[in-house]
Amino acid sequence: MKDLTPTQLLKASKEFGSPIYVYHGERIEFQYHRLKNAFNGVNVHLHYAMKALNNVNILRIIKKLGSGLDAVSIEEVHLGLRAGFEANQIMYTPNCVSFEEIKEAVALGVIINIDNISILDQFGHEYGNTVPCCIRLNPHIMAGGHSNISVGHIDSKFGISIHQMRHVQRVVETHKIHVNGLHMHTGSDILDAEVFLRGAELLFEAAMPFKDLEFMDFGSGFKVGYKTGDIVTDIEEIGAKISVAFTDFCKAYGKDLALWFEPGKFIVSESGSLLVTANVIKTTTSTVFVGVNSGQNHLIRPMFYDAYHHIENISNPSGTPRLYSVVGYICETDTLGYDRQIPEVREGDILRIKNAGAYAFSMSNNYNARLRPAEVLCYKGELHLIRKAETLEDIIKNEIEVIGL
Ligand SMILES: *Cc1c(COP(=O)(O)O)cnc(C)c1O
Repeated sequence: MKDLTPTQLLKASKEFGSPIYVYHGERIEFQYHRLKNAFNGVNVHLHYAMKALNNVNILRIIKKLGSGLDAVSIEEVHLGLRAGFEANQIMYTPNCVSFEEIKEAVALGVIINIDNISILDQFGHEYGNTVPCCIRLNPHIMAGGHSNISVGHIDSKFGISIHQMRHVQRVVETHKIHVNGLHMHTGSDILDAEVFLRGAELLFEAAMPFKDLEFMDFGSGFKVGYKTGDIVTDIEEIGAKISVAFTDFCKAYGKDLALWFEPGKFIVSESGSLLVTANVIKTTTSTVFVGVNSGQNHLIRPMFYDAYHHIENISNPSGTPRLYSVVGYICETDTLGYDRQIPEVREGDILRIKNAGAYAFSMSNNYNARLRPAEVLCYKGELHLIRKAETLEDIIKNEIEVIGL
């Protein structure tokens, strides 16, 4: 898959400013097909985890591919409906929301995923067998990676423990709840097929007493490369192994179920770049800093997860490589990259921060009263502005000035 060229990226920044997020539409399509094609002989459905990147134009590209959506809040459900998804294409997987919010989702007609026994009980009490629901289980397998993104372990707030299945079954039987699916999402980094399969086996076992299942949802966890040499999910290997395991399970269960996944990062991470300008080169006694016109307000993953994001100097790609720490302009230690070999950076150069498609714009904020950048989509050879940059007006519009203060 051909990447966007420095020329294309520089054109986007010249036309629409800096800092700026640029997304490559074809890359999103490529990733979708790659994942989908990794599963052979099974009825696989993808529900894109829209919390990774939820611009309406991105959602529409993904919808055209035939994908559904995974929404984690009622607001995301509304954004999905606005983008043109049918309610029955949206899986709503909330955590710790009020029962009122779940009732709103039911009224909208989306697929409901429940991750708490108390909510399951309220759901059964309210709807009996009239509204189906999926149940989110926690198989307690460790998916590796940073503790903030491993959600399958024993003290995670996500899902219902696999050790509480008897309790779950009691609640289901009491209210005659129609359970149409079982779900697990173990974390954001699955490093090998074995971890995934261990979780899957537990879910298959848990599925047997539920007679009306239509699908099994294995969440996500597909890892993409952030730097050369990173261990990435071998999607073809995992796909082949899971397809076999799932086919066997369907035989044992006595019915061909659908196999669902909810990829976020895998679909959009590599499609996105954050382009920033080197404001200053600051040489101290120990370090050469590149200070850029961006920071943790536009890309918080390096600070939040210790994530590595590769940084290139697209204004001077053939410059002599030197060692830099690339830092933001926020009044926090917002280091975007420590001790990086980057072709010589001059003040005014445009740097490209890679893997900024997932959890970059969607986690951005207005700290230090800084504004969010514009978003641009490069698709079929054309650049489209898909979100304007914020203005100061945007961040004060809800503020109320009390007269006389
Ligand atoms: C965040 C999330 C995903 C997507 O995770 P990625 O690592 O971005 O693929 C899928 N399912 C659920 C329930 C999530 O919360």
